[in-house]
Amino acid sequence: MLHGRRVAMNNILVTGGAGLVGSAMKRQYPDATYVSSVDFDLTNPTDVLNMFTKYNPTHVIHLAGRVGGVAANIAHPVEFFEENVLINTNVMRYAHQFNVERLTACMSTCVFPDTVEYPLQPHKIHLGEPHQSNYAYAYAKRMIDIQMRAYQQQYGRKWLAVIPTNVYGPDDNYNLINSHVIPALIHKCYLAKINNTPLDVWGGGKAIREFIYSDDVARVIWKLTTETVEVDPIIISSPFQYSIGEVVQKIVQLFGFTGEVKFQFDQPEGQHRKPSDISLLLSMELGKFTPLDIGLQHTISWFIDNYDTARK
Ligand code: NDP
Repeated sequence: MLHGRRVAMNNILVTGGAGLVGSAMKRQYPDATYVSSVDFDLTNPTDVLNMFTKYNPTHVIHLAGRVGGVAANIAHPVEFFEENVLINTNVMRYAHQFNVERLTACMSTCVFPDTVEYPLQPHKIHLGEPHQSNYAYAYAKRMIDIQMRAYQQQYGRKWLAVIPTNVYGPDDNYNLINSHVIPALIHKCYLAKINNTPLDVWGGGKAIREFIYSDDVARVIWKLTTETVEVDPIIISSPFQYSIGEVVQKIVQLFGFTGEVKFQFDQPEGQHRKPSDISLLLSMELGKFTPLDIGLQHTISWFIDNYDTARK
């Protein structure tokens, strides 16, 4: 329920402020306070205490976390689990101590069980094991739901967990091995074009996924934090679903790449479809969603203009 409440900007603290979603939030709401790991290491309780002492926020948008693609998750499950649990525990503990009125933290659609009845809905989060490729990250993120319920039960905290789907946009991680599908494809296509080599695509391109532009996620999280009293987890996704093959086609067109596209049919693609139920989000009328073509256009322009400094 939107209730149009306004919060003084200097009382809003955003962790993960230099990341994909944090940067998108900063572009739209520049007057809040944005922190990254350069300012405070949130795995360290002393740093987190110092952060809350310095800013004493009434509202916290907690975006920080150890985030990565499949390869990184398979190689570093210990870090993905421990760092996320430490970060979230420290942030919630001090948010409670400093009497933070509203804390919003990010889970991810990968928290859902690998085998589940679709569409994804928040009440299905704990119904089975997450996919084995990122189980450590997924379980750590699931615990946000448990911790928030515990703070609500014991202390009456009305905090909110959000569940974004696949996010893309400027300031993403474009590493060829450790990134998510869209930034990896953009970087690969950029290199294929300048080196005049084929574009290799993991899998056969048939899997269908939901994608959401980072500006849209940032706007929705901001409004949910500052203008609503929702406490149940909310899935943040767009109504747009595309096959990976269609996404590849759009990226290829936007780059003007005319070389060969080689789908690696022998590589696993995961579930064919993973639709999520966004009826609650749509009912809240939090704004329009950026079409994939437009979001990709902005993202690719940004990547080309910022190639030397982009995270990769
Ligand atoms: P990014 O990886 O782009 O940004 C993560 C941020 O977390 C960075 O600013 C990073 O700081 C900060 N961070 C990492 N470790 C620490 C630490 N120990 N102390 C302090 N800060 C730290 O992530 P996104 O913007 O993509 O994601 C935002 C949130 O949304 C995350 O919680 C993620 O799990 C969730 N999410 C993301 C999805 C996606 O597709 N990207 C999908 C679903 C959920 P620095 O910049 O200094 O390294």
